Amino acid sequence: MKMQIGGKAVEACSHEFSDIINPATGELIDRVPRGTEEDAEMAVEAAWSAFSDWASTSPQQRAGILYRAAGIVRERKDELAVLLTREQGKPLTEAKNEIEGFANVLEYYCGLASSFHGGFIPIHQSGYAFTVKKPLGVCSAIIPWNMPALIMAWKISPALITGNTLVLKPASSTPLTNLTLSSILSEAGLPAGVLNIVTGPGEVVGESLIKNRKVKRISFTGETGTGKRVAELAASGMKKVTLELGGSDPMLVCDDANLEAAVAGALRGRFYNCGQTCTAVKRLFVFESVADEFIKKLEAGIRNLRVGNGLHENVDMGPLNNRRQWEYIKELVAEVEEKEEGRIVTGGRVPEGGDYSKGYFFGPTLVVDVSEESRLLNEEVFGPVLPVVRVKDLDEAIEKANNTCYGLGASIWTKNIDRARIGCERLNAGIIWLNQHLKVAPEVPFGGTRDSGIGKENGPDALSEYLELKTVMLKT
Ligand code: NAD
Repeated sequence: MKMQIGGKAVEACSHEFSDIINPATGELIDRVPRGTEEDAEMAVEAAWSAFSDWASTSPQQRAGILYRAAGIVRERKDELAVLLTREQGKPLTEAKNEIEGFANVLEYYCGLASSFHGGFIPIHQSGYAFTVKKPLGVCSAIIPWNMPALIMAWKISPALITGNTLVLKPASSTPLTNLTLSSILSEAGLPAGVLNIVTGPGEVVGESLIKNRKVKRISFTGETGTGKRVAELAASGMKKVTLELGGSDPMLVCDDANLEAAVAGALRGRFYNCGQTCTAVKRLFVFESVADEFIKKLEAGIRNLRVGNGLHENVDMGPLNNRRQWEYIKELVAEVEEKEEGRIVTGGRVPEGGDYSKGYFFGPTLVVDVSEESRLLNEEVFGPVLPVVRVKDLDEAIEKANNTCYGLGASIWTKNIDRARIGCERLNAGIIWLNQHLKVAPEVPFGGTRDSGIGKENGPDALSEYLELKTVMLKT
């Protein structure tokens, strides 16, 4: 596939390509241009040229195009889901949910098309003021590989509905679904240059998109380390920025929790998308008094998970997305064994037999009684490994849960309203779930605190991130 700049499918100026590999089989799926700084610049120019016409369309006209695109995406859902599974690795059912999610997000923002406008402010005895909301201009979006379709929707929808133009850089291992979705938007009537996609390395294309003086806003999702680099570059150019970064979400299971529901929540919360979800359950704290029973049920649930190629039937968990991630997870678990930092109850290795040897598979892993120094509790574990720690009560659970630099999500499982309230008040996180984990919706603001990021996506407030508020004061 080629990049999309100014409404045209183009190769990179370097004439170089990167291979896109199926993480379940190791097979080459496609090749995409290895973009350069020059390509990023061309894309910004295309977005710049398209801005004035696009900004002067009405929000309702823009919504008409996004609605049409959402309709085409729904019609082509099965084919898009297969593409997403092939490049990302997730099971087909999860891929279908994600494609459906892309269409839902587009439609949600179409519904907000009439909601953003300035206001009138009377000023006592001296006149009045009014405010005007204008699109910013060219924005850039840089996204990761774990949920490429959904995160694309979170970024392009508020940007486009408010009249901005955009250059998006996909992750290097998952550009194909993004490119196909972009061509669907063109088919739905999005004018040339309004959305441009440049593939290529983050350090080259990504940084170039941030540094370009014509780019007014950067919306970044990725690792905290990369986010800090993005923040530095954005600050020196005085650019607006949203950073959606890593997390190490705690799940707190109290002794009065519905244990069956908590086990189901932990299984989904940790192993969905092979553990590669920013708000996955990455540390689990369970009250001692129910820990043995809970761990036994959890172990049984994990042993039932079927690992395999996401395109095959009855697969609960696919491979990790890329070699780097796979090597990292193998290294972490080997270290736990070597340093005796916890007891591996199940998993802990690459599954044997079948076609596992061809992909980046790792068995769903449960590690209990994990020691405080373990990297499992101190780094973002972006893979199918669940560390469990026993705690005596809620105070200890909250103290341990907050002992991290991250603050993305957290969940508390209890039937007791006071415990729920205390958890909501004291847990440091941008999103708190009660008796559930992982659920997100376009209507709900999403984003972390501390090293998990700056700013929110989703919900009506996300629109103001893409609008400049101008105040006009009149004397009477
Ligand atoms: P990453 O930081 O390695 O890459 C993210 C994107 O940034 C990619 O497109 C990459 O090419 C680009 N990039 C890399 N270096 C860059 C640079 N110097 N300048 C500009 N762009 C650069 O992250 P990843 O491994 O792709 O994704 C996994 C991470 O994303 C995890 O930490 C996960 O928690 C996080 N994530 C966060 C959220 C959220 O909403 N908070 C959602 C999904 C994923």
